[in-house]
Amino acid sequence: MSDIGFTETRERTALRAAVRELANRYGRDYFTAKARAGEKTTEMWAEAGKLGYLGVAVPEEYGGGGGGIGDLAAVCEEFAAAGAPMLLMVVSPAICATVITRFGTEAQKQRWLPGFADGTKKMAFSITEPDAGSNSHRLATSIRRDGEEWVLSGGKYYISGVDECDAVLVVARHVDENGQRLLPSLMIVPTDAPGFTYQPIAMDIVSPEKQFTLFFDDVRLPADALLGSTEAGLAQVFAGLNPERIMAASFSTGIARFAMDKATDYARNRQVWDTPIGAHQGLAHPLAQCAIQIELARLMTQKAAALYDAGLDRESGEAANMAKYAAAEAAATTVDQAIQVHGGNGLASEYGLGALLAASRVGRIAPVSKEMILNYVAQHTLKLPRSY
Ligand SMILES: Cc1cc2nc3c(=O)[nH]c(=O)nc-3n(C[C@H](O)[C@H](O)[C@H](O)COP(=O)(O)OP(=O)(O)OC[C@H]3O[C@@H](n4cnc5c(N)ncnc54)[C@H](O)[C@@H]3O)c2cc1C
Repeated sequence: MSDIGFTETRERTALRAAVRELANRYGRDYFTAKARAGEKTTEMWAEAGKLGYLGVAVPEEYGGGGGGIGDLAAVCEEFAAAGAPMLLMVVSPAICATVITRFGTEAQKQRWLPGFADGTKKMAFSITEPDAGSNSHRLATSIRRDGEEWVLSGGKYYISGVDECDAVLVVARHVDENGQRLLPSLMIVPTDAPGFTYQPIAMDIVSPEKQFTLFFDDVRLPADALLGSTEAGLAQVFAGLNPERIMAASFSTGIARFAMDKATDYARNRQVWDTPIGAHQGLAHPLAQCAIQIELARLMTQKAAALYDAGLDRESGEAANMAKYAAAEAAATTVDQAIQVHGGNGLASEYGLGALLAASRVGRIAPVSKEMILNYVAQHTLKLPRSY
């Protein structure tokens, strides 16, 4: 691989190869067995952390690799491509580490970044609320001052991985002494804080990571629980969302690559007429279309990451949205087609594709739905009026 703009650097290529070696050592069977047993992929996460893969984007002075979100996205994609995606990579070392690096105090950086770098600390991220959903301007979870402390009230839903995290980064709206609702900001809430409870949501996704409804019943937090400024509003929150979209895109392209490998392997070997089924254009062409979708999505993801790592937040926003949309479509389409290629075997547990159906579908809904991305592109790229 040469360093010519449209390909990744030699360092990134070497990183991918090293991660692939580790991820394949665990692989799909390990992942599915853990998920079905209700267990976590703890050993895989710990080993990835120890080898520095989870911390590639954490600054070197805090124990990380000093790379960019493009490096972290490459790590995320390779685990997913091995059939062992790590959902919390999208959250803890991506959103939370980025926001703390950019807006945290020195004490917050010292407290969290070394643990993110070696994987020994994890932080969930919560913005979605039952009565707000895609409309983050309608957040009702509130934070108010009481002397030196903060008091957090409200709730969230569909928050991933809370049961395995040390803390949750919560987007909450400030309320002043007159009950006036002010701008939203970010609070670091330990998962064992008194008044904070959470319940799992029963999901049909075969994954070790679970989703939760969170309840904040007047949770009292110290002054330093605030991350960044109370004045910055959603702009500060959104700084973590471009990395989230780039990571979500990599998660999806990894899943798509895994399904494509399965499909092509099967199509080359399964024979029910005189030639392998992969020779029939009815199967070969949809797979070729998926391959094109995956490669386009990967290229856009790499572009979004390059823009973000160059400090171009606004330009990266458009590219990250487009990448995330394209990757989610590539994953959903490829998994569906891989199942089709396998005939009845496509839904047999042994082949591991049926279990991917819901997981591959998540990308069209979270962390931002395909409709909200289309709204973004319609309004920001095409300058069309908004309907909401
Ligand atoms: C597996 C999983 C993990 C998740 N993890 C997290 C997490 O860790 N942290 C977190 O904060 N959230 C998380 N989420 C929540 C996720 O971000 C939301 O589900 C998503 O943003 C959509 O919100 P909603 O479910 O309330 O749907 P709604 O907002 O109710 O939307 C329902 C439908 O209406 C459409 N819609 C809404 N408004 C418009 C509009 N203006 N124009 C066109 N269509 C519209 C949506 O696109 C969608 O199709 C997760 C969700 C899932 C499924």
